[in-house]
Amino acid sequence: ILIDEPEPRKEKVAIVGAGLVGCLAALSFARLGYKVTLYEYRDDPRNETTVDRNLRSINLAVSDRGIRALNAVDLEMSIRVLKNILPMRGRMIHDVDGHQTSMKYGLHNEAINSIDRAYLNIELLNELDRHKNIKVNYGLKLMKMDFSGKNGNPRIYFEKTKKVANTLEENAIRTFEYNFVIGADGAYSATRFQLQKFVRMDFSQEYMDCCYIELYIPPGASKKYKFQLHPNRLHIWPRNKFMLIALPNFDGSFTSTFFGPWDLTESLDTREKVIDFFQTNFKDAVDLIGLEQVVEAFLTHPKCSLVCTSCFPYNYKGKCIIVGDAAHSMVPFYGQGMNCGFEDVRVLVELVKKHEYELESAFNEYSVTRQQDLDAIITLARNNYTEMSHNVNTTRYAVRKKMDAAMHLIFGDKWLPLYTMVSFRGDIRYSDCIKRSKVQGWLLSQLELGVYGLGAWLAFKAIRAVVRDR
Ligand code: FAD
Repeated sequence: ILIDEPEPRKEKVAIVGAGLVGCLAALSFARLGYKVTLYEYRDDPRNETTVDRNLRSINLAVSDRGIRALNAVDLEMSIRVLKNILPMRGRMIHDVDGHQTSMKYGLHNEAINSIDRAYLNIELLNELDRHKNIKVNYGLKLMKMDFSGKNGNPRIYFEKTKKVANTLEENAIRTFEYNFVIGADGAYSATRFQLQKFVRMDFSQEYMDCCYIELYIPPGASKKYKFQLHPNRLHIWPRNKFMLIALPNFDGSFTSTFFGPWDLTESLDTREKVIDFFQTNFKDAVDLIGLEQVVEAFLTHPKCSLVCTSCFPYNYKGKCIIVGDAAHSMVPFYGQGMNCGFEDVRVLVELVKKHEYELESAFNEYSVTRQQDLDAIITLARNNYTEMSHNVNTTRYAVRKKMDAAMHLIFGDKWLPLYTMVSFRGDIRYSDCIKRSKVQGWLLSQLELGVYGLGAWLAFKAIRAVVRDR
């Protein structure tokens, strides 16, 4: 079915990168009436074999901000794209002895939702095909961009990446001119790199001393109950400096990820060391994954790095803007990278409408207002590693969580736990989440002091009574 297009606009936009955020940007700008062309350096993933896809499988948690952004484009599209999500209503903490403790995310059964990244990307690409004013060109890699076109329009230069044997076309540079360009080409964005030649852009990049390796928990043997673990939980095996997590898949399997410091991970370089490490730290997970499978995965799967990048500003006049990981890649511990990228697109589209399609004003306002929110979520994501791998194991954390939840119960919307604001309340800006949580954190500390003070006073009275009777 082709979608009814809005009143067409004469401007043409090029979007670089047909990942999750590039696809959503294409759908959103097509809805505004622009003629959209997407450029992607890889082949169409729908042509790849399932085996290839599985090797790159990452499970994402889609939460309120991501869903809001999809809904803002088209509610029916959003329902189609998200039809295979699995709700995770809390964390399940696995201790070393295999005991499991469930911690709900919210008081009202709120959930974040597990979905396979490659699957979601394909669903979004299928949506692009429904639009007459979206064209996708695969196998073209952005190499260069300048603003030498008519009226300072961007000219973009692509190299053909698809190897066609014995043709002169191979590696030929192709040049196109557009009214504006949206860069959604991921953490190592070529668009951002090109933009830096024209904009005095601040840019920073930091690698976290942590790598990750994908593992796989297969579906259970029972036909009746296919999940080997609780399907509606995000499973965590927190071990302070390292951890294992697992997110459910629709077929009953779980995508599991090991996160740990580079030196530790690289030191586990023999079968015996891997077995010893996993049997000591993740015995119950080994029983589910299979010992041989753990060894095979740990020794042969890629060890991937985690990078945080931030930059400012995100645009050059009304001619080019970067969104998603191209503008802000973050570590995955708040499950917000894609959600935030989707929110970028929603916020940008709202500003384009607000400025009545005057792009320079819209893009400038985007840069100025969005920066504090992006900085906020990058910080929150980094800090959440300690929360997931260590704090969840401590009694103090459990007590504070309960106090936080109690305050929310008493004061309703006036007191929202940080996780609730970030993951379930996309109407609250990331920067406001931090501001509100700092105040609440301080108040909780006062309350804690009060409770401890009261406890100490009662204890003192009890001791005095006992001592007096002696
Ligand atoms: P990408 O997905 O990187 O897409 C960029 C696209 O641009 C790619 O298709 C690439 O081929 C193409 N491209 C690159 N260079 C060029 C070029 N020169 N020319 C043409 N095309 C180009 N986020 C969440 O919201 N929730 C989660 O739970 C979550 N978990 C994660 C877990 C892990 C282990 C990791 C690594 C990330 C996780 N994320 C999560 C983050 C999320 O995956 C990213 O934020 C998201 O994929 C970014 O989308 P993007 O479209 O901006 O970039």
